[in-house]
Amino acid sequence: MKRQIQVSINNEESVVIDLVGDESVSVDITDPPSSLELCKGQKPFIKIDGLRWRDGEHFHLSWFEKELTVDDCIVIQYKESDELASGTIKEIKYDQPEEKCSFCHKKKSEVDLLISGPTYNYICDACVVLSHNLIQEKIKD
Ligand SMILES: [Zn+2]
Repeated sequence: MKRQIQVSINNEESVVIDLVGDESVSVDITDPPSSLELCKGQKPFIKIDGLRWRDGEHFHLSWFEKELTVDDCIVIQYKESDELASGTIKEIKYDQPEEKCSFCHKKKSEVDLLISGPTYNYICDACVVLSHNLIQEKIKD
């Protein structure tokens, strides 16, 4: 019997993991980062790795690493002899966490204006005013 684990993103790219004999494989999915981690410059990504057990030994494996964009859909399926085994589908839809000011951590919905930087860094209008006033005071000294 042929056993496979198939991981696909948006029904396009896919990784097929063939299971040999009675070996088992564990698949780990690293969750997309929180908005705080994004504020620290981390890009959203998915990583699929795990362990392969064969003859009492295990091997670390890494199958997949991909940067995510909003609404990416990741589907994990377990198949036996090309038939999809029931109840073994995992589907994850990547949804970007709400953007926050990197300085005061207020959410976009709590401020009048949120200005974005190049790598998931943000500053709100109140922090800009506060910074401006601090600079003015420093210049006077
Ligand atoms: Zn702020």
